[in-house]
Amino acid sequence: MPSSIYIHIPFCKTHCPYCNFTVKLDHTGKLFEPYIKALCQEIKNRVFQSNDNLIQTLYLGGGTPSILPIELLQELFETLYSQFKFDPKVEITLECNPGTADEYKLQGFKTLGINRLSVGVQTFNDELLQRLARGHNAIEAKNIIINAHKQGFENISLDLIYGLPKQTIQSWTESIKQAFELPIEHISCYGLSIEENTPFAKIYTNSQNPLLPQEKSLEDMYEILQKLCLEKGFEQYEVSNFAKKGFESKHNLNYWKNTDFWGFGVSAHEFIKGNRKANTENLDEYIKNSLSNQKILERNPALEDLMLPLRTKWGLNLKDYQTKYKIDLLAGKEHLIRDLQNQNLIKLENNYLKITPKGFLLSTEIISRLMP
Ligand code: SF4
Repeated sequence: MPSSIYIHIPFCKTHCPYCNFTVKLDHTGKLFEPYIKALCQEIKNRVFQSNDNLIQTLYLGGGTPSILPIELLQELFETLYSQFKFDPKVEITLECNPGTADEYKLQGFKTLGINRLSVGVQTFNDELLQRLARGHNAIEAKNIIINAHKQGFENISLDLIYGLPKQTIQSWTESIKQAFELPIEHISCYGLSIEENTPFAKIYTNSQNPLLPQEKSLEDMYEILQKLCLEKGFEQYEVSNFAKKGFESKHNLNYWKNTDFWGFGVSAHEFIKGNRKANTENLDEYIKNSLSNQKILERNPALEDLMLPLRTKWGLNLKDYQTKYKIDLLAGKEHLIRDLQNQNLIKLENNYLKITPKGFLLSTEIISRLMP
């Protein structure tokens, strides 16, 4: 059975106009308790087999899991601890947004066993934060990280976004520098993507919108990020992720290795024994019956096993891939491979095909050209 668990908490303080996740604004908190009850019920109903595997990673994502009162998180953890055996060195991550956790709550997270926080900062520029309708400002973002560190958290990650409307190279550089003034061990940076059916999709109808940084600026932003991370000793281990040595996210590494994981909660996905499943996206339906409408998702294993490792610094083991799928990825592509190598975008090392840090910016394009 899997040794990783993902739990989805769908509630948020505000609905950011670029977000297309399953989230629910619940200012009164009246759905929190019924949701946690449904979640605990799902866990108890589904985890009836003997679970000999020790849980190595648990990830509470959302939404904004830190919005929940500590007493409800405690109820959830009691269920988890009663149903699974946890490795003493388990990594337990909680996604946490500024303005949703005071010192009492942070202390409560620690008491529950949470040992890694992933803080959704996005930018330290207050004007940009307002445009993103994040519901927090830069001071609150800094305070939550400083307070978490004071409470003893020694593994803190923060998220930043580049390519925001009206974001300049200077303000992006400033945000990265401010991030490194804080006690963090890990940083995730994503380019803004304009998703369908979001308020941003209506405003920024095409990528040529003059308010959005253009391609050259995006490349510059990514390069600045790589350079500053390198200078601070944060190694790039995935297209969007940088960490001090030993602080890579173990949970996300499992995703990239395509290993099994449980998924609990509304809209949660899971991957067990080759099957990818998704829970219902309808919160009311989930609260009424947490086992309703679980559907099996179609998958393309050969593509997943190619794309996921190529996003990481460890790359793809060509020999294993060939044994598993009877596909020689390099056959007939000698010219392309040489071309990409000459541009320092990929490298071949001991049977591994790796995308270089320079190539990470173009990883989607490189992977599509390498596909069989
Ligand atoms: S806080 Fe995160 S999950 Fe919630 S609406 Fe904003 S981007 Fe989406």
